[in-house]
Amino acid sequence: MRARFPDFRLGNVLATSFTGTLTERHGNAVERIPTPQRLVDWLAANGLAVDSCTTAQLELARQLRESIHAAATAAAIGAALPAPAVHIINERSIQGRAAAVLTPDGNRRWRLGSDSCVEDALSVIAADAISIIAGERDGKLALCASPTCRAAFFDTSQSRTRRWCDMNTCGNRQKKARFNANQRRNGAAARMDVS
Ligand SMILES: [Zn+2]
Repeated sequence: MRARFPDFRLGNVLATSFTGTLTERHGNAVERIPTPQRLVDWLAANGLAVDSCTTAQLELARQLRESIHAAATAAAIGAALPAPAVHIINERSIQGRAAAVLTPDGNRRWRLGSDSCVEDALSVIAADAISIIAGERDGKLALCASPTCRAAFFDTSQSRTRRWCDMNTCGNRQKKARFNANQRRNGAAARMDVS
């Protein structure tokens, strides 16, 4: 299942993995949860298995996602948090049932309400966003340096100098672009030598 969501290797930050389901926000945006089933798959891959998802619940999820993106972006640049986004994050956090449980091997898992509905899963994502934006977690919100991406990500590196939302996508693309530019320059130089 993970292979279907190649952009989610962002560490273990649930909220920014979720905002990453819309990639290339400032370029040719790609929607990674185009259907309710894809949201179900994404939630399962992130430890939040739900039984089903309706189109209306998918809309709720996307609304939460864009609200987290707006609030996290504001937090990353030190701007005031947009009130409508804060309202939606809080609504989703309040309107779900989920409990942290400890696994036998000492990890935390989320146990959703008995009928495991999408609203419960969204409340976990909203709570995760709140903990990041409130600065409770060890790390720093930053924006991806790629001009076509600008995704908000949570930098947990020691130096807090991470530039890309994901090395496998934006980081790699940038490296390749630099490499190609160098190749072109070197090629032009070689041609000049011949003539
Ligand atoms: Zn990026």
